[in-house]
Order: sequence, then C-alpha cells, then structure tokens
Amino acid sequence: MIHEILPTGMLQCNCSIFGDEASKEAIVVDPGDGEDLDALRGVLARHGLKVKAIVITHSHIDHIGAAAKLKASTGAPVYMNENDQELYDHLDVQAQWLGMRSVETTDIDVAARDGDTLALGDAKFEILHTPGHTQGSLCLFEPGQNLLVAGDTLFRDSIGRTDLPGGDGRQILRSIHQKLLVLPEETRVICGHGPETTIGRERERNPFLR
Ligand SMILES: [Zn+2]
Repeated sequence: MIHEILPTGMLQCNCSIFGDEASKEAIVVDPGDGEDLDALRGVLARHGLKVKAIVITHSHIDHIGAAAKLKASTGAPVYMNENDQELYDHLDVQAQWLGMRSVETTDIDVAARDGDTLALGDAKFEILHTPGHTQGSLCLFEPGQNLLVAGDTLFRDSIGRTDLPGGDGRQILRSIHQKLLVLPEETRVICGHGPETTIGRERERNPFLR
C-alpha cells in the first residue's frame, strides 16, 4: 500500500494519503487547513490516485479546513464523527483565534462511528472513537499493517490538549487506555503533528500515561 505523510499548513498537521496500487483508489486522512492543497494534489497525481474517501480525525481547522475544497475537486465523500458537527458549524471561530481567513465548509457525507470499517484494497481501516481532545475525535487502525492514525489524541511523549471547547482531560485518558494502549505494542502511530511513535513506546515512556 502507498502511504505518504504530508505535513500541511501553519500548524503542520500530518495529512496521511493511503493508496491501493491495484485499484489506484485513495483515502486521505486530515487534508489540512487548505494552505498545502496543491502539494496534496501533487502527491495524488504522482501516484495516479483517485480519492474515494476523505476522513477527518476531528474538526479542528488545521485538520479539516481543506475538506470542502478537496471534496469539490475529487467528488469524494467526507467522513467525520457527528459529535464534532458543532465545532465544524463554528469553524470561523477557530479561524479567528488563529488569525486565519475563514474557510469553506461542506456537508459531512458519512457519520464515522466506532467500529465502522473502511476498505482500501486488502487493507481495512477500523474507526475507533476516542473522545477527549474533542467529542468527535477518532483514530484509524489498520490491523494488517499494525498502523494507527491517531489524530490529536496521542503524540510521542504527549497527549492531545483538552483545554479547548469540547475537550475533556479524563475522557482522553480513558480513550487512550481503553482503545489505544490495548493495541499491539509494535503498532506504528502516525500522530496528528510531529514525529511518529509506537504503542509500546508510549505505553512505557509517555509521562501523561503513568
Ligand atoms: Zn486538534
């Protein structure tokens, strides 16, 4: 499977592009704030990929801002957990906080729920609802490759902030312990920002999880 990680925008949100070599279908996770949409389109074009799903780990503008434009140009449906709809409805507030221009928004096409799966070739991405950073935060786990896309829930040596609207410090710890730390320790974790890590490493060394 093709997997490219593209840090995008002012806050360098890690966008993941998964592509199936045989069908040339792609899943884009967190397309970013829109600033680096050309770079994202370049990656898709380089591999000859056609986007079949745009998955949003949570409705913060640095992750979801580009969703409307990417959907308009690819026709791909947008997947998001419905508990983040209110945040998405007020994305202009986040733009103001960050001193960014407001971005276009779009309808969410598919409500991504805990336990749902998304197939891409032989790969099967499982949606894990992991509230805490926001109420609709989700992670994607692909068991065949032991790969987790963690959004802003789990970072190398850190966890997602919970001081923004919709955040809950106890809930994020519960989500991480119950849904993420139970995964195989060799699981590669692609974080929403910064370097990747593994479940085993964070289980042992993450100071927030002691
Ligand atoms: Zn976030």
